[in-house]
Amino acid sequence: MAEPKKKRPPQRSRRARANQKIDAIALIQCGHCQAMIASHTVCPHCGYYKGTLSVSS
Ligand SMILES: [Zn+2]
Repeated sequence: MAEPKKKRPPQRSRRARANQKIDAIALIQCGHCQAMIASHTVCPHCGYYKGTLSVSS
């Protein structure tokens, strides 16, 4: 296995990590109750996902 020749300084790792930003959550409108919800999630207001009621319990 290839090995790195030098250990990366901590400040270099921190500088690289400072550029790893988390994107804002994509909000979509619920097709059932028209509330703004995060995409690819069950609507917390009415429990619908893709037009069907999703009840886990
Ligand atoms: Zn909804």
